[in-house]
Amino acid sequence: MKPSLRLSAVISWHRAILVAVMFMLAVPASPGWAEAQEDWGAAILVYHRFGEQKHPSTNTKLDQFKAQLAELSLGPYRVVPLREIVAALRGGSAPPDRAVAITVDDAYRSVYEAAWPLLREAGLPFTLFVSTDLIDQGAPDLMTWAQVAELAQSPLVTIGNHSAGHLHLPEHAAEKATADILRAQNRLEQKLGFAPDIFAYPFGELSLDLKAAVRELGFKAAFGQYSGAIGPRSDRYELPRFAMNEEFGDLERLRVATSSLPLPVEDLMPKDPFLKPSANPPLAGFTLRPGVGNPSALACYSNAEGLRVERLGRRVELRFAGPLAPGRTRVNCTLPAADGRWRWLGRQFLVAE
Ligand SMILES: [Zn+2]
Repeated sequence: MKPSLRLSAVISWHRAILVAVMFMLAVPASPGWAEAQEDWGAAILVYHRFGEQKHPSTNTKLDQFKAQLAELSLGPYRVVPLREIVAALRGGSAPPDRAVAITVDDAYRSVYEAAWPLLREAGLPFTLFVSTDLIDQGAPDLMTWAQVAELAQSPLVTIGNHSAGHLHLPEHAAEKATADILRAQNRLEQKLGFAPDIFAYPFGELSLDLKAAVRELGFKAAFGQYSGAIGPRSDRYELPRFAMNEEFGDLERLRVATSSLPLPVEDLMPKDPFLKPSANPPLAGFTLRPGVGNPSALACYSNAEGLRVERLGRRVELRFAGPLAPGRTRVNCTLPAADGRWRWLGRQFLVAE
């Protein structure tokens, strides 16, 4: 279930941070433009394995995790249950500044054995997105249903649906995707006594059809797996999460991610991140909302080679050198904000394998 997806995450992070540092050196302070008034920014982290150094691309070392929890507990952040961010997106009150939600996908046993004691000790809430077939198959590195049920009883823990089969869902017909998600929902209800109301896309892969299916099933929100800040205008069924792993588990990266602000845009193209052959390479772009910042300070990076950024006033066009390769391609756009923070828009495009 663990993939090459991390490599592209890792590459785009590496570049984003590198250029972020270049910006900090090159761009004078006081950009001289107004921040939007109703602004708030929240960040969601996604983890997989803990202390499992055989899987560095999905693992977080325990000393890293302890340092991250200490930073999140002592720094200027507020770790909140994911439902607080979802409630804000559904019209509730804004979350606190620098709200951070911790999520963990797939329900590996190391979550129960290594991460859970640390999270409980720190009193930090988190959400576990469970993929049910893996547990039903009794794989030795996955949690048992009894362990999931034990976590589910804690007021610190929220359980989410992460599908049954952990498939590349956009590549299947909507009926099959719906059936797979419902099968997970039924297993969770049988085993835990309740059905989750939030969903995480396997591999963070989504399409317009899949989003519609997930909304149709009644989920309140759904989460991807690529970088980006959450804000008042975020699409509840396409919410980014910063992927955490061994190589990029340092505290500076954590601080940048958890302090990020949304990049408010309009006319985001293409609407569907799942690219048909006739729409590859995509005509990608967006328009910065007025007052959000100086368009010339915007920088965009991709794990695809040769991305060109063209600007016409507030309109930003992203031009790829050629068709995107099968699999996932990520684009990260950042714009410096006040107080050393960054506005961050991430997208993940998907091409069928
Ligand atoms: Zn997963």
